[in-house]
Amino acid sequence: VFITFEGGEGAGKSTQILRLAAHLRARSGREVVTTREPGGTPKAEAIREAVLAGVAKPYGAFAEALMFSAARIDHLDQLIRPALAKGAVVLCDRFSDSTRAYQGAAGGVGEADLLALERVVVGPTRPRLTLILDLPPETGLARARQRAGGGEGEADRFEAEALGFHQRLRAAFSAIAEAEPERCVVIDADAAPDSVEAAIRAAVATRLPA
Ligand code: C5P
Repeated sequence: VFITFEGGEGAGKSTQILRLAAHLRARSGREVVTTREPGGTPKAEAIREAVLAGVAKPYGAFAEALMFSAARIDHLDQLIRPALAKGAVVLCDRFSDSTRAYQGAAGGVGEADLLALERVVVGPTRPRLTLILDLPPETGLARARQRAGGGEGEADRFEAEALGFHQRLRAAFSAIAEAEPERCVVIDADAAPDSVEAAIRAAVATRLPA
């Protein structure tokens, strides 16, 4: 079973993935694999590092989408598909909805182009369930800044974008959830970690009965 987590900056995805993984391991006895995008394999992590350092920037958002797609192809081939084939639950921090939101809605790449690219790259390996962690961008950015400790941290040009960029991201994730209600569940992430965790467990339990 393939489950993805999506949302803007500081939504708490990485914390919640670890919590859900521990819960599913204890409860289901199934193998649970956690991974992330951009990245997830050595080659894909190298692309992540390059793009986050700005390598694609002079070529625009579509080039970024292509580089992240190259990373996704490796991630799918080397990690996600083999794990799913073994019957594991795969929990992935960001996937193709992030491409739609970051490079598409916020970055200006046309939706039709990104959907065509997604069809080629992802093929039939679509998530069964996507949890969209939603919160006001102001709150998420404040959390992300706190995590970076106010220092240099991991230089991340995306987090430095204007507030409007993050508002477009949020709207994009909401639109995806509205367009694909059978796949997506919006989780209120502007709450204490324990309540977010409970909401996620409930969504998983109702959408994926054991
Ligand atoms: O979720 P995480 O913080 O690991 O994401 C790393 C960065 O990559 C984020 O700041 C996000 O803005 C950026 N990103 C992107 N386009 C994607 C996926 C992630 O710009 N398709």
